[in-house]
Amino acid sequence: MKPEIITSISAMKKLTGKHAGLTGFVPTMGFLQEGHLSLVRLAKKQCDVVVVSIYVNPTQFSPSEDLASYPRDFERDYALLAELEVDYIFFPDNNEMYPPDYNTWVEVKGISEVLCGRSRPSHFRGVTTIVLKLVNIVQPDYMYMGEKDFQQITVLKKMLKDLNSDTIIVPCPIVREPDGLALSSRNKYLDEKQRQDALCLSKAVKLARQSVAQGCRNPEVILNIITQFITAAHGKIDYIEFRQSNDLSATEIIDKETRIFLAIYIGKTRLIDNAILLQ
Ligand code: AMP
Repeated sequence: MKPEIITSISAMKKLTGKHAGLTGFVPTMGFLQEGHLSLVRLAKKQCDVVVVSIYVNPTQFSPSEDLASYPRDFERDYALLAELEVDYIFFPDNNEMYPPDYNTWVEVKGISEVLCGRSRPSHFRGVTTIVLKLVNIVQPDYMYMGEKDFQQITVLKKMLKDLNSDTIIVPCPIVREPDGLALSSRNKYLDEKQRQDALCLSKAVKLARQSVAQGCRNPEVILNIITQFITAAHGKIDYIEFRQSNDLSATEIIDKETRIFLAIYIGKTRLIDNAILLQ
């Protein structure tokens, strides 16, 4: 069966409410790559009905960001999702999601304001608002999300808990190119040289993990090593931080829960990566 394309909220709500089994949901902004598809595959394995949304959510982009140029290719996305035998593709337009009288926002304080929230102050408000809307529309049992956006998962888990939702987030590992670069729709913006320079993110993660494996537990020491490395590789640092996985609190000693988080500009393209440091 080909996936059914649903564009209206009322039609989507009727469909998922009716299924007796487990509903799995994968929210995306389209232009699908293996990272997205890995989430869909897991959803297919674990659930009876799988819904993928494709919606480039304008409220999570600031006016200076790449909303207009964000890559889109619905036909290709449809073919990929048909191959994976997805049941429904929720594909609403802006008027459906944000009608002219729209006036409600969801904000998670604290953890939305660190890391990406510092350089993208309105970003997570847009993410939490759209994801809560999507959860209310699709009513999934499980929502599959990539650890590439680890802060996003943490913020959304907190939102669902605080607002008493029954939907459970299933975090999925980062899918990478063979050379280590985390797959991302934004990799499309990189020219050939920048694509090489972009390897500094995953190499920096490797370097940090090596230092920890050799016994270093001091974030400052590792920060110095990888700052030099990234700068030499033409990366402009937005942030490099060491925080605990459960609540994104800052840490002075690296332990099993500590993650390194990086956001680096390669030319004008901002790329992120993160990883646990201690095996
Ligand atoms: P996006 O379309 O960028 O909003 O991403 C939709 C979902 O796919 C999010 O949960 C992302 O974390 C996830 N995702 C994107 N790239 C990857 C990747 N390389 N590995 C794992 N998950 C990913």
